[in-house]
Amino acid sequence: MANGKRDYYEVLGVSRSAAEREIKDAYRQLALKYHPDKNQGNKEAEEKFKEINEAYEVLSDSKKKQLYDQYGHAGVGTGGPGAGPGFGGFDFSGFGGGGAQGDLGDIFGDILEGVFGGQQRTGRSGRRSGAARGSDLQYDAQLELRDAVFGTELTLKVPRHEACTRCGGSGAKSGTNRKTCPACKGAGKMRMSQGFFSMVQTCPKCQGQGTVIETPCTECRGTGKEAKTGTIKVKIPAGVDEGSSLRVRGEGEAGERGGPNGDLYVMIHVQRDPNFEREGNDLIAEKHISFAQAALGAEIAVSTLEGNVTMKVPAGTQGHTIFKLKQKGVPYLSGKGRGDLLVKVIVDVPKNLSEKEKQLLREFDQINNKSSDKAFWKF
Ligand SMILES: [Zn+2]
Ligand SMILES: [Zn+2]
Repeated sequence: MANGKRDYYEVLGVSRSAAEREIKDAYRQLALKYHPDKNQGNKEAEEKFKEINEAYEVLSDSKKKQLYDQYGHAGVGTGGPGAGPGFGGFDFSGFGGGGAQGDLGDIFGDILEGVFGGQQRTGRSGRRSGAARGSDLQYDAQLELRDAVFGTELTLKVPRHEACTRCGGSGAKSGTNRKTCPACKGAGKMRMSQGFFSMVQTCPKCQGQGTVIETPCTECRGTGKEAKTGTIKVKIPAGVDEGSSLRVRGEGEAGERGGPNGDLYVMIHVQRDPNFEREGNDLIAEKHISFAQAALGAEIAVSTLEGNVTMKVPAGTQGHTIFKLKQKGVPYLSGKGRGDLLVKVIVDVPKNLSEKEKQLLREFDQINNKSSDKAFWKF
């Protein structure tokens, strides 16, 4: 499905460096033009509308945009590692399956409000119950090159606030219940009047919950939270690189008043390896061979990240020649194929020669020079 998709920037007709505002404007124009209400029964317009919505959903979200910029469709779409088996814990993108269809109304609703002078957008989780989503957390993970290349499972210790175990997050002392808020009589909202104006405000006493704690929990003093260290297992997919980030849903800070937990973002850092340099999905290594091996040709052992392989060096190989070992590099995050291992051959000039070795080399040099002289005199 990731194949054959148009580039999202191209879909919206903006450049890769377009500002947020520019992306939004471009989207708005296209969305109005291809909106199904204006193009009834027009299949082509319908497809187009879906396409621009999908593009906007990614490019309007800074995290998804970053993943898209880095990994293309694989980073955000169904072809990406988030959709693969065994990665239940996190998703790369925030919209794994479903596609744009279900969210069309929402996105368009938001935009139309903006265009036609509607009200300022309010959070989707709403303030009805005073519930608020917990904050997102970031964790910096250091990986060895091998683990970044082949993937691994990490067990992270993350300091965070979790729901209080004693009161289950309610904040009320065990055995007691929350009681109806005396200020708003349980409505969670209060009507305030000032002259001609009257407006509805969230009840400041219960923060909109409609109930208050009578006797606070002794453990968390009514906050419903306690500081803990969470132990979180995270699968790192093969092919991640320095700067990759993975989202683990619901493993951030605990939500407020029954709101959902925040997410945990795992930022990947890759340590330098003494034997391999990485360039995109290729690995680069150096291999020393002797002067004689280079001249005569040889089969030599080359170490890869998966152990040694035999590489043929043809006779007459010059120093700094690069040999390509196909498919011995870094797997692509999309799960299809991998880069190559490039082996740069360094020809060592022999040092500390014995008398016999020197003698042989002198003889060799003489023969070598004579043959080149002959070649010269032939002309
Ligand atoms: Zn408590
Ligand atoms: Zn209240």
